[in-house]
Amino acid sequence: MRLGISTGFDQRYDCRICEVEDMDRENLDRRTWRCKTCSEPVSVHLANEAGDSQLVERHPACELDTRDYIVLEHDISLGLFEVKDSKPAMGKGNKWYLAIEKNGYDIVERDKYYNCMPRG
Ligand SMILES: [Zn+2]
Repeated sequence: MRLGISTGFDQRYDCRICEVEDMDRENLDRRTWRCKTCSEPVSVHLANEAGDSQLVERHPACELDTRDYIVLEHDISLGLFEVKDSKPAMGKGNKWYLAIEKNGYDIVERDKYYNCMPRG
């Protein structure tokens, strides 16, 4: 079963390759969080009512690595956390092992999506 990432803080989606701001939702692939025109990750603007905001891209667990920083999907006010480890979960079938600064580790689906600080 695919569990979608929470989108409750999403304000708008931009594609910096296509130079489109607040893109048409029909042009956003919500399965991969990429632009349907250029197939690059879209920029997601997150904000909450307290005024916290973050600009992120969405990547699956199996594409994260130790250079990445993530924003927790249910509380963006906590800011960025460093990915400490990201690798196949040994003995857990097709699952993925992901360790996050101050958040311990999780065994997750390979295609569980995370809010990730843009790498550009
Ligand atoms: Zn695009």
